[in-house]
Amino acid sequence: MSRVCVLHVGGTIGMAASPDGLVPQREVLERYLASMPELQRPDVPKHHVELLEPLLDSADMAPADWLRIAKAIVARDAEFDGFVVLHGTDTMTHTASALSFLLRGLRKPVILTGAQLSLEHVRTDGREHIVTSIILAGTTKIPEVCIYFADRLLRGNRAQKIHNTHFLAFDSGNLAPLATVGARIDVADHLIRKPGAGLPISLKFEREPQVVALRVFPGLSRVLLDTVLEGADGVVLETYGAGTFPHRGGALLESIRRATSAAQPTVVVNVSQCHGGVVDQATYASSRALADAGVVSGVDMTPEAALTKLYCLFLSLIHI
Ligand code: ASP
Repeated sequence: MSRVCVLHVGGTIGMAASPDGLVPQREVLERYLASMPELQRPDVPKHHVELLEPLLDSADMAPADWLRIAKAIVARDAEFDGFVVLHGTDTMTHTASALSFLLRGLRKPVILTGAQLSLEHVRTDGREHIVTSIILAGTTKIPEVCIYFADRLLRGNRAQKIHNTHFLAFDSGNLAPLATVGARIDVADHLIRKPGAGLPISLKFEREPQVVALRVFPGLSRVLLDTVLEGADGVVLETYGAGTFPHRGGALLESIRRATSAAQPTVVVNVSQCHGGVVDQATYASSRALADAGVVSGVDMTPEAALTKLYCLFLSLIHI
């Protein structure tokens, strides 16, 4: 019988009202799980629930928290066949992307899930998410970091939050779901990655990189762009459409060219603000100019994937 580790890190799923508004409260999950007899059924994989405190509204998640979660998974890897991470929805795609790059060599499922409505709410979507995520983590052997939400298992570093009230809160603009869950669980076997060589025994990191996301907007000034580029190891430039950028007059491009060709160059990656599609730095003059200024195409990566990938590349990850 497989064993699943459920790590609770925060989010609406385990929140309750406070005088300041909704905040994570450790008792919510404990109380609710104790009242779910279905979790004790023999066809639900054995699971162990742990709170990884501090429980956070995911708006407060920072790179140090991605590392904290990654280390917790690495430390428990030998004991479990799969992991479920209960996480807020607001930055779930950032954490899922970061984990996918940090957990190199992953051989088992790591499934992030959460809810639009707290487990305290009579119509919570969290209940089904917890049950199904435990089943997926314990039975499917998908060796990937995924997000399970509203009947769909998405590749974590391909997903984006698309709605803040609909139960269908996540989508993956450039990749079909890895599995769809209805009366049956249908896994898209052809999309599933091969298992890695195994996680390292521990993770050590050398330095805290400075990576920045900048969503391009009409009226972006050179002063602001210079400020963003200054001192950044990497910048994710969220451009329009197929990767276009305001190139009239050339001032913004000059600022980028200076940064990418400096003695300590800044890596600038071009990803689209669109939910689906591919950056193509060859078609328009307004995107070709970025290539000429030393900008790397992020092709079809989400902004979250590009940001966390840059972060992990600069992190000087040491696998022991
Ligand atoms: N603000 C919450 C969070 O991201 C929203 C949610 O979980 O749905 O933690």
